[in-house]
Amino acid sequence: MQTGVAVRIDRIETFIVDIPTIRAHHLSMHTLRSQTLVLVKVSCSDGTVGVGEGTTIGGLSYGEESPEGIKLTIDTYIAPLLLGADATRVAALMASVKRAVKGNRFARCAVETALLDVHGRRLGVPVSEFFGGRQRDTLEVAWTLASGDTATDIEEAEAMLAARRHRIFKLKIGKREVAADVAHVAAIKAALGDRASVRVDVNMAWSEHQARRGIAALEAAGVDLIEQPVSREQRGALARLTRRFDAAIMADEALQGPAEAMDLARDRAAGVFALKIAQSGGLFEAQRVAAIADAAGIELYGGTMLEGGIGTAASAQLCATLPTLTWGTELFGPLLLAEEILATPLAYADFALIVPSTPGLGVELDMDRVDFFRRDRPAPRLSPVRQSVGA
Ligand SMILES: [Mg+2]
Repeated sequence: MQTGVAVRIDRIETFIVDIPTIRAHHLSMHTLRSQTLVLVKVSCSDGTVGVGEGTTIGGLSYGEESPEGIKLTIDTYIAPLLLGADATRVAALMASVKRAVKGNRFARCAVETALLDVHGRRLGVPVSEFFGGRQRDTLEVAWTLASGDTATDIEEAEAMLAARRHRIFKLKIGKREVAADVAHVAAIKAALGDRASVRVDVNMAWSEHQARRGIAALEAAGVDLIEQPVSREQRGALARLTRRFDAAIMADEALQGPAEAMDLARDRAAGVFALKIAQSGGLFEAQRVAAIADAAGIELYGGTMLEGGIGTAASAQLCATLPTLTWGTELFGPLLLAEEILATPLAYADFALIVPSTPGLGVELDMDRVDFFRRDRPAPRLSPVRQSVGA
């Protein structure tokens, strides 16, 4: 039993911010023109403050949690559990949250991230130290080509290669006919050749039959990774496709924490896991998913929910500690946002993200900019019009 409280959690605040993206981002289920982040700020009795982020894609079109729902879950159900508790017992706190709040993995992840940030800041160590320490300081980062136009996508890929920013390109497909999507991807792979790895994410849009046709053609075109071709419920189909093709089949939406990782591993239903802290329900749970993958011989890829700088830094802190990360990461979320909300942006160089090394997550929010993009910010006030009253 815990006796006494070393450092008390005094305040938990949440903010929804809407940030425009640099271009339209077309996915099979949604087109994104701005991204909505839920930011969590945890303040403790010793004056330390930590931040977390819970971000999803396209309201409720990607998963069961919306930004508004994440905020409500934290404000109404999670914050009251944690206020007054000992902030230094992060794992125990998150275990108690998990007992009281079923599902809601993104909300739990956002809170856990903030607790880890504040704990790291207090101890003067990066969050990666809580997960065994770093095995790498940089993470290769893929870029998603999602304009929907072949020539535009090739131009964008060429610019990224020239700038040495990305040499792994993921294409979001599944919205059009299989043949049209395959032609689009094959043209991009033909243009880039061996200079780049070209991968696709179908975001569950295909039937098994469409997937058999689509993957065969994509494999012939030189695509090396196929992400979540069929619905998350169709684990049997995913397993059959994994056995059928040489191209790696990756589970993304099908993977929602350690229990599902175990089921997918047992069924050999994927060759690669997209490891996501939010989908897993936090960094601790994501580390367990990674351990299951490791034991099962399943390769790993550091996935994104298109988080901003806070969520991306949190993912990076964990990815830096993994024994192997065969397929690199897609931690490019902040690069898709047209506006920066960190005091110092995350650094990308030589095809990789440099994992922040200062205490906690290693990033600071620019609160003036956060306030500007807050959904609930007060309407700008007009200058008062002077009126003379009387003489
Ligand atoms: Mg995906």
